[in-house]
Amino acid sequence: MSTKKLLILPGDGIGPEVMREVARVTAWLSRKRDITFEIDEDLVGGASLAEYGVPIRDEVIEKARTADAVLFGSVGDPAWSHVGFDKRPEVAILKLRQELGLFANLRPAKVFDALVDASTLKADVIKGLDIMIVRETVGGIYFGEPRGIETLPNGEKRGINTEVYTTSEIERVARVAFDLARKRNNSVCSVEKCNVMESGLLWKEVVTDLHAREYSDVKLSHMLADNCAMQLVRNPAQFDVIVTGNLFGDLLSDLASMLTGSLGMLPSATLGAVQEDGRRPALYEPIHGSAPDIAGQGIANPIAQILSFAMLLRYSFDLQTEADMIEAAVAAVLATGLRTADIMSPGLARVGTDVMGEAIVRELDKM
Ligand code: NAD
Repeated sequence: MSTKKLLILPGDGIGPEVMREVARVTAWLSRKRDITFEIDEDLVGGASLAEYGVPIRDEVIEKARTADAVLFGSVGDPAWSHVGFDKRPEVAILKLRQELGLFANLRPAKVFDALVDASTLKADVIKGLDIMIVRETVGGIYFGEPRGIETLPNGEKRGINTEVYTTSEIERVARVAFDLARKRNNSVCSVEKCNVMESGLLWKEVVTDLHAREYSDVKLSHMLADNCAMQLVRNPAQFDVIVTGNLFGDLLSDLASMLTGSLGMLPSATLGAVQEDGRRPALYEPIHGSAPDIAGQGIANPIAQILSFAMLLRYSFDLQTEADMIEAAVAAVLATGLRTADIMSPGLARVGTDVMGEAIVRELDKM
C-alpha cells in the first residue's frame, strides 16, 4: 500500500484523551503489520479558538481536503458558550462537512455479545445485531428553501421549512448504500414517507430505478419512516443497510444507536463523492461529543474513537483484515469483563481510558 495521508483532529474535552488510545493502535499497526501512515495533527474547536481565535483555520480545511482520510475527535467547550453561533467550537465540524461535501453519514449499530444486557431492549431482540444506517446529510428539510419565520397580515406568525431532494442527490446516497450492502448482507431498505410527501415519492422512484439499472443483485425493500421506527424497536435484526433522507435519518440513527446501549461505543463515518483522481473525502468520528462533564478525569470510553479508526481502515484504505482484527480485539476485551464507567455492570472490572486502550492492543498482540 502506498503511504496514506491521515489527518487527526482530536478537538476538545475527551477528544484528545480518547484519540491518544488510537495512537496505540496506529503504533501497533506499524510494529506488527508493517502499515504506516503519514500522520498530521491539528487543532479544531475550542482548542483552535484559544490558539488562533477561530474554530477551524482555512489551512486545516485544506489539509483535510488533501488527506486520504480525516479522523475527528469531538468539539464543544463550555468556556466558549458565550460567543455567537458562528464562532462556537462546533462550527469546526459543520464547516468540514460542508467544505468537503460530505453527504452520506454511515452509522453502524452493532451489539457486542458482552454488552447485550446494556440495552434497554430484551437480549433476544438485539443479540448479534449489526445494522448500518446511511443518512443523507447535506440536503432535505434542514437546508431546503424557502425557510424562515414570517408574520402574516393578521399578525399571526408562520414557520416554514421545505423538504427538497433532486434525482442526483438521491442517487448518490443510494449508491453508497447499495455499495455497502454488497460488502455486508446484500440488503437495502429505503425509507421515506411516499404516502404523504412528494419528495418521498421521488425518493422511492429514484432508488427503484437505480436498483433496476445497476444493483439488481442487491435485495431492495421500501418502508415508510414511521413503520421503520417501529420495526427498529420490534425486530431490528430484519435490517442490514437502511438508506434515508436527512430528517428521518437523524431520528432513526439516534434510535438505532440506543439499541446498543452506550454512546461511548459508537463510531460513524461521513463520505463525499469520489473525485476525478479516485480519492473520496471521508471523515470518521465517534457519535459522542466532547463530554465536558467527564473531561480530564481519564475515565472516558475510547472504544467509539478506536472503532471509528477501524471504519477508516475499512472504508478509506480497504484494510478489511486489520479493521476486523480491531473489532475482534474490542469484543475480546469486553468478554474479559473490563468496562469503562459508562458501560459498567455490577461484578465487572472498572477501568480508565488508558487501561482500556492498552487492553485492546494486548488482544491485538495475541492475534
Ligand atoms: P456528549 O456526547 O458529549 O455527552 C453526553 C453524555 O454521554 C455525557 O454524560 C458524557 O459524559 C457521556 N459520554 C459521551 N461520550 C462518552 C465516552 N466516550 N465515554 C463515557 N461517557 C461518554 O453530548 P453533550 O453533553 O450533549 O455535548 C457536549 C458537547 O459536545 C457540546 O458542546 C456539544 O455541542 C458537543 N458535541 C459535539 C459533537 C461532535 O463533535 N461531532 C457531537 C455531539 C455533541
